[in-house]
Amino acid sequence: MAVPPKETPLLMSLNRSKSHAAFARACQLIPGGVNSPARAFGAVGGEPLFIASGLGQHLTDIDGHVYLDYIGSWGPMILGHRHPRVIAAIDEALARGTSFGAPTEAESGLAEQIIDAVPSIEKVRMVSSGTEATMSAIRLARGATGRDRILKFAGNYHGHGDSLLVAAGSAAATLGVPNSPGVTAGTAKDTLVLEYNDCSQLEEAFAAHGQDIAAVIMEPVVGNMGLVDPAREFLLAARQLTERHGSVLIFDEVMTGFRLAYGGAQERCGITPDMTTLGKIVGGGLPLGAYGGRADLLDHVLPAGKVFQAGTLSGNPLAVAAGSATLAELKEHAPYADLERRGSRLADGLKHAAEAAGLPATVARVGSMLTLFLQPGRLGDGATGFPVVDWATASQSDTRRYARFFWGMIDRGIYLPCSQFEALFFSIAHTDADIERTLVAAQETLAEVAAHEN
Ligand SMILES: *Cc1c(COP(=O)(O)O)cnc(C)c1O
Repeated sequence: MAVPPKETPLLMSLNRSKSHAAFARACQLIPGGVNSPARAFGAVGGEPLFIASGLGQHLTDIDGHVYLDYIGSWGPMILGHRHPRVIAAIDEALARGTSFGAPTEAESGLAEQIIDAVPSIEKVRMVSSGTEATMSAIRLARGATGRDRILKFAGNYHGHGDSLLVAAGSAAATLGVPNSPGVTAGTAKDTLVLEYNDCSQLEEAFAAHGQDIAAVIMEPVVGNMGLVDPAREFLLAARQLTERHGSVLIFDEVMTGFRLAYGGAQERCGITPDMTTLGKIVGGGLPLGAYGGRADLLDHVLPAGKVFQAGTLSGNPLAVAAGSATLAELKEHAPYADLERRGSRLADGLKHAAEAAGLPATVARVGSMLTLFLQPGRLGDGATGFPVVDWATASQSDTRRYARFFWGMIDRGIYLPCSQFEALFFSIAHTDADIERTLVAAQETLAEVAAHEN
């Protein structure tokens, strides 16, 4: 929901004239001025900042302002920008050539790292994005089961493949409807869309359609409606129902893989899917995705089997080098306890800052992913924060309030997600002092947001 800039009075106190000019130029050339819509600041009003460079936990825009980065390229940069080990690996690969269209040993090296890390993965195929990974995983599930239907959950994002850009029909467990012009009704009808965390809807859907369902695809911790942590019973129900009905359970760990634990959300929850999709961190900041899982399933992929999937730049040497170095660093230094400790401090501090400002809020967090859901009303008037468990509860957030918060933080040099419905990420480069600085900025900004509304 776009908020007009005049509604956000905390906006634009810094001079951003170069970003403004760059955006005007880009809008003439590129639809909406951006190569991916999440970058456009549409959900908070105003114009995107154009980035000149990143280093460690910081971004510098083309007007020379430095920001503490809580986007991390929307997930990949868990080591921070320009991590020396990653840059060295890219340099080394670059010296040998950028693409060959023939296998390299480094691809098997990265495959070994992925298989070693992710509990469900026995074999893995590399692609160039998360979208490609989920599209390919679904084709494989359909090809292997001989079934057409897939089941997904509202508020989960799996990239922009047609069969995943589908919204729920009018009643639960009915046929999906296109969620974008250009997705055909024929494609959408093979996708069922249910509410996340709802075990009884899931049971009903399997009772009605179980023998037709090729796959259930889900984010095992959701980052794409803001952060939503599933109930364990819900994940267990998905595991048991798919097993019982011969459907493939796909955990989409494009965001959570190597982020919530080295082995992803599945390591953390101890539930093993049949297939897993990866992206973001696995490419270390270069374009790389992957899908993997049970060897008997993966052996259906051409040329081992008959399910077609290919890519000119798949397993690209630069991307493989960056991903491999990133995974090696994460495995050797196991930063997850530190990330957990800093995340916990950040979550507590944000919760207190909202309370001090009299604003109802829920802070949802797992590891280094977090969302401050700003919710409607005032604490003094009897409103309270409520848990966010699915899209129905997430979508009750006060997005105008979030927009004001976002811009107030930008003015204080803190770059948060430009939408209430995106999780923030931090990296191993973020220090305790960075977290404290963020909390001071949040206290000031939330107090200002509350005062502005009086
Ligand atoms: C980002 C994301 C994708 C899509 O990955 P791209 O590399 O943007 O195509 C798919 N699934 C999840 C869970 C994601 O967060």
